[in-house]
Amino acid sequence: MSKMGTNAMAPLIRRIIPQLHCSCYHRYFSSGSQCTVYDLVIVGGGIVGCATAREMIMRHPNLKMAIVEKENALAKHQTGHNSGVVHAGIYYTPGSMKAKLCVEGLKLSYEYFCKNNIPHKKIGKLIVAQNQDQVKRIDDLFDRGTKNNVPDLQIVEKDCISKYEPKCQGEKALWSPWTGIVDWTIVCQHFANDFQKMGGEIFLNFEVTGFTEMAESKGQSELSPISVQSKNRCIPAKNVLTCAGLHSDRLAVMTGCDLSPRIIPFRGEYLLLSESKRHLSTTNVYPVPDPRFPFLGVHFTPRMNGDIWLGPNAVLAFAREGYTWFDVNIRDCIEMAKFPGLYKLCFRYFIPGCKEVIKSIFYPLAVKDLQKFIPEVTYKDVKRGPAGVRAQALDKDGKLVDDFVFDSGTGTIGNRVLHCRNAPSPAATSSMAIAKFIADKLDADFKF
Ligand SMILES: Cc1cc2nc3c(=O)[nH]c(=O)nc-3n(C[C@H](O)[C@H](O)[C@H](O)COP(=O)(O)OP(=O)(O)OC[C@H]3O[C@@H](n4cnc5c(N)ncnc54)[C@H](O)[C@@H]3O)c2cc1C
Repeated sequence: MSKMGTNAMAPLIRRIIPQLHCSCYHRYFSSGSQCTVYDLVIVGGGIVGCATAREMIMRHPNLKMAIVEKENALAKHQTGHNSGVVHAGIYYTPGSMKAKLCVEGLKLSYEYFCKNNIPHKKIGKLIVAQNQDQVKRIDDLFDRGTKNNVPDLQIVEKDCISKYEPKCQGEKALWSPWTGIVDWTIVCQHFANDFQKMGGEIFLNFEVTGFTEMAESKGQSELSPISVQSKNRCIPAKNVLTCAGLHSDRLAVMTGCDLSPRIIPFRGEYLLLSESKRHLSTTNVYPVPDPRFPFLGVHFTPRMNGDIWLGPNAVLAFAREGYTWFDVNIRDCIEMAKFPGLYKLCFRYFIPGCKEVIKSIFYPLAVKDLQKFIPEVTYKDVKRGPAGVRAQALDKDGKLVDDFVFDSGTGTIGNRVLHCRNAPSPAATSSMAIAKFIADKLDADFKF
């Protein structure tokens, strides 16, 4: 084959492998590249897609695999817009997948960082109670964390809080020495490099717009690749995994899955602490989470580059990739408006939701929350910082989906596509454990 031009080979191979005679086929051969039917195509170059791709190619070095990503670089969305915390797994319900995968992911992550010289710091985390109600919840969190096997948790009494964070105050605290910080974009890039070194391919600027069965292959179950399509290209694949974060529901619908759970984008905005006040925050300082609300609450997070981020809040975004109030996407808004679950959610969280919006617009108001922990921070010390958008899965009843959701779809394509519809936070910390979990599922479902 290598001796002949691929264009000259096209009619011959079309006869030999009629299954490949499709638009993909033309594209591959007329462009001069070799036609490859991939054993597995992974849609989404965020940390979940890249970690799973790495795990799969390590398990099956002889299989042909590719990642397709719609942006011009990996990790452009949630993976590249988060707090950069390596979570220890304290909050999650004991026995849940979230708890198990986070604690396992924490250990795997630190091992991986050390082995690959990825800069990180184990700066710990202090969860600080501000009133008696929260003091009780500190004890509950200690019990939870212990049940989840979070290493070395310690209760810190009021007088000792300043030993962990000199300028911090509170009634009682929980200290987690294993919590750390890292740049998850770098970690994701490392996973992708490992994948490529083992023979995996990555296609950027490849936005998947649909999946079809290759026209002439219908009825031939053994050789009937799925055409993974974008606007101007397509890739033939035997099996597909989608890890599309903020667009995971759209990818699922493409193979006939139900619309629910829908992804509703919630922006998390950060404030930046001025350079002159950076010394005030040396560890992660978190509030005690309010069980009525889904997010952890505004916290102090030192970054690897020395910045201190304060946040994130949680406001409804008007675009799935809406990193500011000015980012509005009409299609995204119409889809949200048509989804009944969102109205139920807004009704349930109407007052706290409005408060979040007010604090987002008049951001010095958010400083009051921060002053409860470190009173020396004033509104003059903060300015607007970056933002991330959470892919919050929501069901038809307006309930926030807190667990992993996998889906397939219908027809001959459906049973060869696995959609990871919800990989809940802290999926960056858990990514290596999630990758093992998904890889087990792929091995079982697709008989790799
Ligand atoms: C504000 C915020 C703070 C967070 N803080 C932390 C933290 O401190 N620690 C932690 O562990 N976790 C944190 N998380 C959670 C964590 O960042 C995410 O759970 C994780 O990054 C999810 O990774 P992912 O690969 O599923 O999604 P993403 O990183 O969003 O990747 C999905 C990818 O799919 C691509 N894609 C989508 N549609 C298509 C298509 N049609 N074709 C091709 N490609 C497509 C996207 O471009 C994207 O690159 C935070 C999240 C947010 C938003």
